[in-house]
Amino acid sequence: MDYDVIIIGAGVTGCAVARELSRYRLRIAVLDKNWDIGEGTSKANSGIVHAGFDAMPGSLKAKLNVSGSQMMPSLAKALGIPFMQNGSLVVALSKDDRLHLDELFERGLKNGVKGLRILSRNEALEMEPNLSDKTAGALFAPTGGIICPFRLTSAMAESACINGVTFLLRTNVSSVSRTDEGFRLDAIRYDEFDPEGDRDITLSSYCVINAAGLYADRFHNMMSEDKLTITPRKGEYCLLDVTAGRHVGRTVFRMPSALGKGILVSPTIHGNLLVGPTATDLADKEGTFTTASGLAAVNAPEASAVKNLPMKEVITSFAGLRPCGDRGDFV
Ligand SMILES: Cc1cc2nc3c(=O)[nH]c(=O)nc-3n(C[C@H](O)[C@H](O)[C@H](O)COP(=O)(O)OP(=O)(O)OC[C@H]3O[C@@H](n4cnc5c(N)ncnc54)[C@H](O)[C@@H]3O)c2cc1C
Repeated sequence: MDYDVIIIGAGVTGCAVARELSRYRLRIAVLDKNWDIGEGTSKANSGIVHAGFDAMPGSLKAKLNVSGSQMMPSLAKALGIPFMQNGSLVVALSKDDRLHLDELFERGLKNGVKGLRILSRNEALEMEPNLSDKTAGALFAPTGGIICPFRLTSAMAESACINGVTFLLRTNVSSVSRTDEGFRLDAIRYDEFDPEGDRDITLSSYCVINAAGLYADRFHNMMSEDKLTITPRKGEYCLLDVTAGRHVGRTVFRMPSALGKGILVSPTIHGNLLVGPTATDLADKEGTFTTASGLAAVNAPEASAVKNLPMKEVITSFAGLRPCGDRGDFV
């Protein structure tokens, strides 16, 4: 056997698993088709460490979200990376929204989120003066936080690497199959400079961990009769200069809908201001380009629950693809 454990995917999931398993005497390899770690969804998201009030009580997502939020302060400290519990607000912009706020509050309590509070319009505006004039109240979650998602991923990869984990980048896994002892993985190892130099390789291991993000359904379906479909849901953003970074102090959400958490406005851990994401289902798992319509939706005056956004301070835009499974929960 080449390895005890092979992890497919060097995103935040694969790197976290690699770091955790590197505490044991195991021969571990992380394989990724890209030239660097964290080049998938893990580098293009909101960077929010959610408090955990949104996930359905009893779901795996709720359980992992709340325990992840509780672990993050000590994890960030151990990794030596910046993390801030800046708190988050879900803002009700109508009477209907205000009723849903109570539901969200109850859900949060059931999920075990600490410190949740419903704020009146005045309390919310006192906390964040740039909230919309339509603000009817807000749910405040003091445990919501912000982090740099790429730094989190790279710090966990570095820690795993120091502890002896092998990272095989430029390694595109094409198939996984069972053998008598464990698993066989066939892959293409890309040459760094010359496509002529690409070569087929075969690896073996006792255990395979599928952390392939948007492509996790492919490997799952090679092994299981219980077929899974993952659909990419694009989210587009505008990132504003640090001069706009204090427009809000907390992460400000609108009321979530079936398509997700809506356009949020948040300071980033680097002091910029982030506005987005949109939510559009696609067929293309590589479609991380921004679109005129997506950026127009982010820039629309009433897109978020924050007023007077200084959109002239936009310094860049980007898009990420959420891996949306067909089960409504983590698998
Ligand atoms: C718009 C948006 C906003 C989000 N906001 C937040 C947020 O605020 N907070 C939060 O917690 N989460 C957020 N998320 C979700 C979060 O980004 C993802 O859950 C997370 O990044 C998934 O990490 P991953 O490691 O599972 O997947 P990925 O980061 O996609 O990693 C999978 C890796 O597998 C590799 N891979 C795939 N196929 C193969 C193959 N055949 N061979 C080898 N390697 C392969 C890929 O190259 C990739 O590097 C958001 C996502 C989006 C898109």
